[in-house]
Amino acid sequence: MRLHAKVLLVVVPLAVIPLLILGWLAYDQLRSTAVERSSIQMTTLMDQMARNFQMHQDVAKANAKLFADASLMRAYALTEDEEERYVLMLPSLLKLFSSYLRAYPDYTEIRFLLPDGYEDARTTLIPIPNITEEEGETPFFQELSRFKGDAFVQVSTPPDSYTVSLQVARPVRLIDLATQDPLNGKPALRGYLVVTMGLGFMAEQMAGSRMGENGHTLIVNSDGKILFHHDPSQLGQTISAPLLKKALGTGKGEELVPTLYQEADSLLATRRLHEGLLLIGILPKEELLEESQRLGNSVGWIVLGTIVLLIFALLISMNVLMVRPLKQLMGAVREIGRGNLAPTIALSTSDELGKLGLSFQEMAGNLEKSRVRVERLAYHDSLTGLPNRFRAHETLRCMISLAHRESRRMAVLFLDLDNFKRVNDTLGHQVGDQLLMEMAIRLQVVLRAEDVIHQEVSQNTLDVLARLGGDEFVVLLSNVSSSRDAAKVASRILDIMKLPFYFNENEIYSGCSIGISLFPSDGSDVDDLIKRADAAMYQAKSQGRNNFQFYSASYNLAALEHISLEGRLRRALKNNELVLYYQPLVQARTGKIVGLEALLRWNDPLDGIIPPDRFIPVAEESGLILPLGEWVLREAGRQLSTWHAAGFTDACVSVNVSAIQLQRQDLVTIVDQVLKDNGLRPWQLELEITETALMRIRPEVIGDLNAMRRKGVTISLDDFGTGYSSLSLLQELPIGKLKIDKSFVRDMLVDPKDAAIVSAVLFIAKSLGLQSTAEGVETPEQAARLAEEGCDQLQGYLLCRPLPVAEMTEFLKSRKNIEIPQATLKTY
Ligand code: C2E
Ligand code: CA
Ligand code: CA
Repeated sequence: MRLHAKVLLVVVPLAVIPLLILGWLAYDQLRSTAVERSSIQMTTLMDQMARNFQMHQDVAKANAKLFADASLMRAYALTEDEEERYVLMLPSLLKLFSSYLRAYPDYTEIRFLLPDGYEDARTTLIPIPNITEEEGETPFFQELSRFKGDAFVQVSTPPDSYTVSLQVARPVRLIDLATQDPLNGKPALRGYLVVTMGLGFMAEQMAGSRMGENGHTLIVNSDGKILFHHDPSQLGQTISAPLLKKALGTGKGEELVPTLYQEADSLLATRRLHEGLLLIGILPKEELLEESQRLGNSVGWIVLGTIVLLIFALLISMNVLMVRPLKQLMGAVREIGRGNLAPTIALSTSDELGKLGLSFQEMAGNLEKSRVRVERLAYHDSLTGLPNRFRAHETLRCMISLAHRESRRMAVLFLDLDNFKRVNDTLGHQVGDQLLMEMAIRLQVVLRAEDVIHQEVSQNTLDVLARLGGDEFVVLLSNVSSSRDAAKVASRILDIMKLPFYFNENEIYSGCSIGISLFPSDGSDVDDLIKRADAAMYQAKSQGRNNFQFYSASYNLAALEHISLEGRLRRALKNNELVLYYQPLVQARTGKIVGLEALLRWNDPLDGIIPPDRFIPVAEESGLILPLGEWVLREAGRQLSTWHAAGFTDACVSVNVSAIQLQRQDLVTIVDQVLKDNGLRPWQLELEITETALMRIRPEVIGDLNAMRRKGVTISLDDFGTGYSSLSLLQELPIGKLKIDKSFVRDMLVDPKDAAIVSAVLFIAKSLGLQSTAEGVETPEQAARLAEEGCDQLQGYLLCRPLPVAEMTEFLKSRKNIEIPQATLKTY
């Protein structure tokens, strides 16, 4: 179950149940208050009505006594002579009755009945016909005649009326003073004084005391007949027997009792106004509860709203305070689980969760530290700090796939110290360890130098050194252009290992044997490459140690030659075995010599003249090209000034410059010195750079070329057409001349494609305002065709082969002042 649900399950009932109870209690309280209020209202009203009735009745009783005791009444009652009574006294009596009626407008009739029920005198407030004069048989009189008390009261319809009224009768008992002694005489009944009072005041009070829509009072007689009701249609109807029974059974002190009235649940209250006169209060329950229901509804809605708000607030605060931070922590733990030991836990809270987040971060940090430590231990050699066998294999696997993708070649060098065992046995393990550590340092130095050279050519390729165990090391060269590169590194390692090691005043010589395997030719997986390099290493050991061997024997020969050539070239430079030959450049139009290209030769005491194609690459790879190139520049400059001194002032000198010189030598300074030392003008020096070299140089070097160009030194693009320089590049670079490669010139008269290239190059040169030279011109036809197409200068065996200084001097002399006519040009 989700956290949300769990917390809701616990908290919501805790909050909701009390709320519900509270709501119910409030509702119940409100309801009972409403009922109580209504019942008080009802009972108060009914008490009021009962009191009112009682009051009227009491007043009527008192008045009846008052009226009966009036002297005129008494005199009248005692007068037996009918004539006297009716003629003399009656008018006065009726007048008296009228004055009473006017004083009490509630009274509708006052009459005097004789003891036999005969209505003797009668007065009404308003004219009411006198229907019954003999009342002796009426129920009212029957009861009255049986009555022995002072005041007889009955609610009924009087004989001459249609409305229910209150009749208060007072027997008139008098002592006849004419015949009896006033003290001992016995009073005799002379008749009854009856005051009739209308109950309109009750009806008025009932009409004005309705409660709510249907709450009301009614008055019934003992038979249940409705005597008063605010609704006239109900008058005369009879209430149901059970209701009457209930009403009769309800005492004064009792509260409202539930009952059924006109098929509606109601509350009933009863007051007995008089014998046979009941005041009934009816309060329909529904109406009574309506208000409390309204209140109950409000309470219900408030409770519901509070619950919803509570849940909402609870969810939000849980989300903010718990769930979100927990999710972040969960995410972080998952990250840690996946191996990301620097998870971001952005908890800003300072509560327990915030602290937990900090603990997680700390834990991750510690895990990371131990991971690094474990990795170091697992993948590194503890003695030298170099990657160990596992790491070497892993790295090699990566290198192989990368090299595979980029179609690069790689080399694995397997190294083994030649006399490590002896050092260990004789000088102890400590010295052995020191030897290994020193060896690791030396190997790293060699590789670092190697990487510096490498990176000029290609980025992102770093070589790796690892210790496989014991005195075995492996070097992984990630990018070699040929087996020679690997051989070069191997021979450098051998060179550096030839230097003695010094430990505790011991001088130790410890060469090593190296086996080399190449990717992809010797294998394309880790095991093959390592196994084969190892095998080659044993081969090296068997060859007498302190040397290197390729796994494929064919490479050994080439490597050998390369290595030996490098050494010999180094010596040749020292022993001045290098010489410059010169080849003239002539103006195509006039045949005049306008330049001399310096071409390097190696005059080996054993092999004789060695051409530059064979040793320039070795010089470039070994870095020997730097001193060598500088020597050529200085020598060519010096030679030109000599020729100038001898009178050959028209020619300038062209010197071939390697890309490596441009990149790693301050060529600008050297050129400045050469010009200054030999008193040459800048335009008398031309630098030839091959198109392919120029395209590969780094952008920083272009600044140097610009500087020289600005001085006036001509930059020629050599072997033009063999590279793939774009026209835009030609425009950007500070070039003054294009030299069409001799391969195009050679076949231009037989191969239309070459002819087209020659024409195109000449066209480009002209368009960009560049000079043009064609090299390798061997036949007059080629010369004529080139001149025709507008080539500025020609160079080649047709005019002159490259010659040493002495012969070139002779040649220049023989050519001096000889103007070559246009026609003869064709006959070269
Ligand atoms: P490159 O600069 O293209 O020199 C022209 C090459 O063509 C020279 O070869 C020259 O002897 C040869 N040659 C001249 N006329 C003809 C001809 O009519 N037919 C034929 N087939 N070849 C002709 P070389 O002297 O063997 O030089 C070869 C390359 O060595 C040069 O090519 C140049 O790139 C490089 N090189 C020569 N001297 C130096 C130098 O001092 N420094 C540098 N960095 N490179 C040099
Ligand atoms: Ca050249
Ligand atoms: Ca060339």
